[in-house]
Amino acid sequence: MTQNAPTCQCLSPTERLFLRVVLVTAVVALLGVMAWSASVSAVQDATILGTARAVARTTGKVMGLVAGALLMLQFALSARLKLLDRAFGLDRLLRDHKLLGISAGVLASLHPLLLYSSGVYFAGALEWSRWPELLGAGLLAMLWVVLCTSIWAAFLALSYRVWWGFHQLVFAAVAMVAVHGLAIGGDLAGGWLRTMWLMMVAAYAGLFVWVKIIKPLLLRENRFTIAAVERLNHNVWTVELAGPPGRTFHHLPGQFAFLKLHGKGLPAEEHPFTISSAPSPEGLRVRFTIKASGDFTAKIGQFHPGDWATVDGPYGLFSHLARAPQTGPLVMIAGGIGITPILSMLRHMAATGDDRPVTLIWGNRREEDIVYRQELDALAAGRMNLRIHHVLSEQEGWAGSAGFVDTPLLGRLLTANQLRGQVFLCGPPVMMVSVRRALRSMGVPRRRIHTERFAL
Ligand SMILES: Cc1cc2nc3c(=O)[nH]c(=O)nc-3n(C[C@H](O)[C@H](O)[C@H](O)COP(=O)(O)OP(=O)(O)OC[C@H]3O[C@@H](n4cnc5c(N)ncnc54)[C@H](O)[C@@H]3O)c2cc1C
Repeated sequence: MTQNAPTCQCLSPTERLFLRVVLVTAVVALLGVMAWSASVSAVQDATILGTARAVARTTGKVMGLVAGALLMLQFALSARLKLLDRAFGLDRLLRDHKLLGISAGVLASLHPLLLYSSGVYFAGALEWSRWPELLGAGLLAMLWVVLCTSIWAAFLALSYRVWWGFHQLVFAAVAMVAVHGLAIGGDLAGGWLRTMWLMMVAAYAGLFVWVKIIKPLLLRENRFTIAAVERLNHNVWTVELAGPPGRTFHHLPGQFAFLKLHGKGLPAEEHPFTISSAPSPEGLRVRFTIKASGDFTAKIGQFHPGDWATVDGPYGLFSHLARAPQTGPLVMIAGGIGITPILSMLRHMAATGDDRPVTLIWGNRREEDIVYRQELDALAAGRMNLRIHHVLSEQEGWAGSAGFVDTPLLGRLLTANQLRGQVFLCGPPVMMVSVRRALRSMGVPRRRIHTERFAL
């Protein structure tokens, strides 16, 4: 029996492009108008000041305003808004969130330097009357703490929980930005720039209430129940969830969700995991395949049927339905647990009778790391047009491909026709970088290489 393809959240490439253009134009216009109006008012003052000072003052003011606006806009990128996810994909939004955060930090740091160097403000004795400036200094310090703990999280060996704790400082910093701007910024003293600023602060506050209060309450209302926890091999588990009665959960094959499992005496942490099951028309059950790779995932086997979970999702565009809905060969390359979104896509293709040629190249260390091997073999032996190549890096006596997925190996396994198809790549960051480079060197254009990083 074949299922209908889920179409619920899938925008066509043209619709996605249109939405992207509209959203990016709106943001650039907003920032541009703010910068322009701040510079116009400053240029009027500049007739009195020397040119160099006027330029420094104007630039400093514009940088402060734009940094404040970017800090507020930042939140929209990480707030998991469905509209933005459909246009850009959440993983990309989170990458851009990082870049914008760094830009906001740099602009915010240059802002006081330029203003002080312009001679408008003077560094003097610490007095309470100068609280808006002190507030600015405090928020800048906070911003740097957030930036350093994010950029150098791995170097500082911060656990995810500690990193997340530091990251929450950004909300206090934004509240301080809002007050600092209104208290000190002459451009924000009145007029429509002030109205714009207040509207941005109100939108930020609204988003904060939605993300931190309303959404968690709604998710708790829609509890999933853990229906099964199954061990697949020495370090991989499958967790099956049953949806809340009367509710359905629809996703595209390959999408992920933020999962929070609640078990007795176990930490209730939220982590992103791909839905490894194929979408079902009823949308009642979903499965996640989870590798024990850290503090939390090592405890997956301690959850039991009957425990409950919240599922925030689905998110992402790493799906053949979103990226390659037409016919044509597909190449799927996975490293280790990076198989999960591909598993979901293959299961969906089998269920819907999608018989376009698929080549799966799956790198693991040893044979025992290969999960769902029988199921995959059955798919390849059945009506699907699927070829599977296991590549093992540490298995002695392995008769198949050995070593890592690199250019010579891809050259051996893929034909010119297959290289003209869409490529889906998911695995450890190091492998993804090298495989992407190999594919590019073999002439596969960037737009045909779709990736999912298992790190946000
Ligand atoms: C889009 C996406 C899909 C994923 N799908 C799967 C999957 O199907 N199967 C699977 O086994 N793993 C998947 N992962 C990886 C999984 O989220 C991490 O392995 C898990 O969060 C590690 O948590 P830990 O506490 O056990 O390990 P830790 O050692 O604490 O964390 C290891 C790393 O995982 C990341 N991480 C940890 N906690 C979180 C969190 N709450 N939110 C975001 N990142 C976090 C951080 O980069 C951290 O450095 C996916 C990740 C992403 C981003």
